[in-house]
Amino acid sequence: MKKQTKIVNAGRDSKWTRGVVNPPVERASTVVFNSVKEMKHATANRGNQVLFYGRRGTSTSFAFQDAMTDLEGGAGCALYPSGTAAITNAILAFVETGDHLLMVDTAYEPTRDFCDKVLTRIGVETTYYDPLIGKDIKSLIKPNTKVIFLESPGSNSMEVQDVPGIAEVAHQHNCIVMLDNTWAAGVLFDPFKHGVDISIQAATKYIVGHSDVMLGTAVANEKYWEQLRENSYLMGQCTSPDDLYLAMRGIRTLGVRLKQHEENALKVANWLKTREEVDVILHPAFESCPGHEIFKRDFTGSNGLFSFVLNRGDQASLNALLDGMHHFKMGYSWGGFESLILGNTNTGRLRTATKWPYENPLIRLHIGLEDADDLIEDLANGLDRLNTHLQNR
Ligand SMILES: *Cc1c(COP(=O)(O)O)cnc(C)c1O
Repeated sequence: MKKQTKIVNAGRDSKWTRGVVNPPVERASTVVFNSVKEMKHATANRGNQVLFYGRRGTSTSFAFQDAMTDLEGGAGCALYPSGTAAITNAILAFVETGDHLLMVDTAYEPTRDFCDKVLTRIGVETTYYDPLIGKDIKSLIKPNTKVIFLESPGSNSMEVQDVPGIAEVAHQHNCIVMLDNTWAAGVLFDPFKHGVDISIQAATKYIVGHSDVMLGTAVANEKYWEQLRENSYLMGQCTSPDDLYLAMRGIRTLGVRLKQHEENALKVANWLKTREEVDVILHPAFESCPGHEIFKRDFTGSNGLFSFVLNRGDQASLNALLDGMHHFKMGYSWGGFESLILGNTNTGRLRTATKWPYENPLIRLHIGLEDADDLIEDLANGLDRLNTHLQNR
């Protein structure tokens, strides 16, 4: 079945919908039973999408879990109240004191914080690695390396990783391959066909798609699903059916939204490329983006999120650009219908394995569903403010 058809049908089995089009919101804490037999049956099957107790999920969560495994592949999906919770809980489900973890140097900042502050405290050692390391990851694997964590493209700097190359080496050494697959949104990259064991998403972003729900997912293959699910239960992870309903509604338009985000972003990026203020476009579909060849090999398309580096400017002139934006608002998240902008004068601040090669400011854009021409005009005015600020000093 083609991806777009999956997007329409994912999770809509009639056992969850009972005949209506969308799986309904089923709110519950207590589930009541009329006989000992019924209760025993539910208890025996409580990990297996049978109504047992609200924390274990209701038909809304079962439908959404099915939807995510339909989209991404894999054997099952654990749900968390945020993308960050999905990342931390997936890691904690598999590491123990004395283990070693390999974390990509360009990881989402809270992921890195978790390694430095929480994993350190429980005696799990983290080594950061170059996102472009590919099969050379072998040289960093130790006898106690349990997990290799990837995020592709990298946060802000957008390096595309050789996921199948790293996965091949990882599996030769019995390491678990976890991928933060948020950028691909379950559509642009098939994690399990590329050797990933656990694919994690901040569903907060494109799955929900409307900037109104926090949600995380971790989809595991057959080998690791049981352990992931059990640990999610042990940690008391659960999610609201109202949020899941919105996320499932988001999925139905995911394909068309992504296409429009992609088209708009490519238009804006191609325009930026013509501007003399722009040094380099860090968009995976552009040759100038590290890992572009891998992107062409492994991905089916791009979305609205990319970065570019200016060839001039400091904090004050960058602020002049950012402060006057009309359509682009400043915000940390992305994946909604609206355009966002972030400016950064120290992109390499957190890196330890690699050195960020640029001195001038980086701007990260999330290109929304507005008309791209209006967005281009907004950015043109911003670059004018940057230049004016620099000239008037
Ligand atoms: C936003 C984001 C997260 C965290 O998701 P939250 O739902 O905000 O906790 C993790 N990884 C990536 C790549 C993200 O963009």
